Amino acid sequence: MKHSIHYFALFSIWLFATASSGQTRLINDKDIADETNSEDWLAYGRTHNEQRYSPLTQINQKSVAKMGVDWHLDLPGDVGLVSTPLVIDGVMYFTGSMNIVRAVDALTGAVLWQHDPKVAEEVVGHKRAGWVHNRGLSAYGNKIFAATWDGRLQALDRNSGKLLWSTRTFGLEEPLYITGAPKAFKGKVLIGNGGTEAGPTRGYVSAYDTETGELAWRFYIVPGNPEDGFEDETMEMAAETWSGNWWEHGGGGNAWHAFTYDEELDQLYIGTGNGSPWNQKLRSPDGGDNLFLCSVVALDPDTGEYLWHYQTVPGETWDYNSNMDIVLADLTLEGRDVKALMHAPKNGFFYVLDRRTGTLLSAEKFADTNWATHIDLATGRPVERQGARYEDGSENIFPSPFGAHSWHAMSYNPKTGLVYLPTIHLSADFIDESYNTQWRSVAFEGGTAVDWSQGADPRDYSGELQAWDPVTQQKRWSVPQSDPWASGTLTTAGGLVFQGEANGHFSAYDASSGETVWTFDAGLGISAPPITYAIDGKQYVSVLVGYGGGYASGLTPGSERLGWAYGVHTRRLLTFSLEGKKTVPQQPAPHYPEPLIEADFAVNNSLAEKGAGLFIQHACYACHGLGAISGGMAPDLRASAMFFSEMTQPLRGIVREGKRLDRGMPGYPDMSDAELVALRHYIRREAHAQTDINWE
Ligand code: CA
Repeated sequence: MKHSIHYFALFSIWLFATASSGQTRLINDKDIADETNSEDWLAYGRTHNEQRYSPLTQINQKSVAKMGVDWHLDLPGDVGLVSTPLVIDGVMYFTGSMNIVRAVDALTGAVLWQHDPKVAEEVVGHKRAGWVHNRGLSAYGNKIFAATWDGRLQALDRNSGKLLWSTRTFGLEEPLYITGAPKAFKGKVLIGNGGTEAGPTRGYVSAYDTETGELAWRFYIVPGNPEDGFEDETMEMAAETWSGNWWEHGGGGNAWHAFTYDEELDQLYIGTGNGSPWNQKLRSPDGGDNLFLCSVVALDPDTGEYLWHYQTVPGETWDYNSNMDIVLADLTLEGRDVKALMHAPKNGFFYVLDRRTGTLLSAEKFADTNWATHIDLATGRPVERQGARYEDGSENIFPSPFGAHSWHAMSYNPKTGLVYLPTIHLSADFIDESYNTQWRSVAFEGGTAVDWSQGADPRDYSGELQAWDPVTQQKRWSVPQSDPWASGTLTTAGGLVFQGEANGHFSAYDASSGETVWTFDAGLGISAPPITYAIDGKQYVSVLVGYGGGYASGLTPGSERLGWAYGVHTRRLLTFSLEGKKTVPQQPAPHYPEPLIEADFAVNNSLAEKGAGLFIQHACYACHGLGAISGGMAPDLRASAMFFSEMTQPLRGIVREGKRLDRGMPGYPDMSDAELVALRHYIRREAHAQTDINWE
């Protein structure tokens, strides 16, 4: 009897502990690597191999026609949404604008907790570069990890959202930013940064202890000044591939996106960025490969020591970074089983590597690409076309700096053997005539040391969803899209591929044929990749709706024609199921901001030119759009009365004092009244000039 009471007591304690601490399952690498766990979505790419393939089959080619909205959560304060949600034990976690992390009941959409890292308070009084969106989170142990625009890495208690630790990964005086998801593995959490174009930056990744937030190791992507001594032999080796005083330009290589942990081989892969500045003639004047720019670099996950690398663009000079997803799979190539690594970077080639060694197995063009004719499999190096380096001053090159593929995740379905790849078709004219050896980039003013402009009519800019066979290196099927910048993809054992588009359509395609089998009009562009999960045997598909990212920011013309004007449409999280019958409040129609005319304002053209220069120099275009034409991520200044003459005081408050910091608008304390006047002339000139444009 005594014996059974004892057990009953223990059982009660266990029950109490489970109930009071909620879902305390400690997530480890075996969990994250488990392909058979269909209920959760534990990591950015679902599992450690980043395939974004779910074994769920309830929603399939036949049943998907019945799919409808099961629940939705409106996010009225949010702007661009680009993140991949995680789902753990029935709770969904995702990142919104200004890096706010929310946990919601994955069954109902009810908000359980919210963590606001108060980015605006952190950056007040500092110059900042970058964006206020972020691509996602990482889970490990009992924690959720998030990174902020301003460079903090934070650990949150998964149950309560309580901040457990927070660490700075770079100083606020550095022209760096983070838009990427951290990557947790083996008790460490890794993060890099962006900023290659924001000033003279030297890229690196850092790994921190998941429990304490202590720095475990740091790997620099490019070598520093030799006079300061190299960190290790790897940097000494890398320095052999540079020339001139590259360190004065930073070198770049910033790892802002792709981090993959290979649980099977116990290796970490990072995708590295392009050079700072882009133009190699200035960065490394006597050439050289410039390691480890534009590479997949394999590191020891425990120490950060270099293992191997494969460089996709030796001596890069077109912003062709290799920051795109790194997907792991077992492939059979010519009868041989291969531990493969798949990578489709900006440069337009699809690469398959043997990830034990980094050896190139195959590489073929997956998009319009003319900078290189092919990749020489014997040397692993691209064969560049004559003139591609714009040595003669100007050259039309495919792809553009937006890349043939950007951060929009590709997925791999082991049942079809196909990769579902969001593709961009666009060229650019590269012009370096106005740059000489005296050129220097300035922190927070940035620059690329080459002019570029869209090489084709903006309306020729198109997208494509393609199914790519990584074994034969051929396209199997294609869905042409009139707009580029569609979301990342999800694929399932139900024989489906899901993708959202810039035009607001969220569709399911037959994974084998590419046939459209279901479409939902979300009424607002979709940039975030969909996920799927299951609770009590019921399958759900979720996607964040909220046009976002660089193209959505108006970095190139085209986005504004979609009509996703700033502040008009409600951002929301949509979740679908086969039983879903909810109606979602309709979005307003596409809206096209009408440039305002200040009738008695006389534009002074030389002041307007000065203002145009300031608009570029301070990277205003990065959110408000090139030519002051907003893509929707920030107000269209041509349609803002703020630039009317009588609004001087409020304008000072916003531009100089940072009064809209809470919306992600940095303050520019050094901006003089004369410069504000020049900006006003520029905005008024653009408003007056463009009133005849009607994108409808
Ligand atoms: Ca770049």
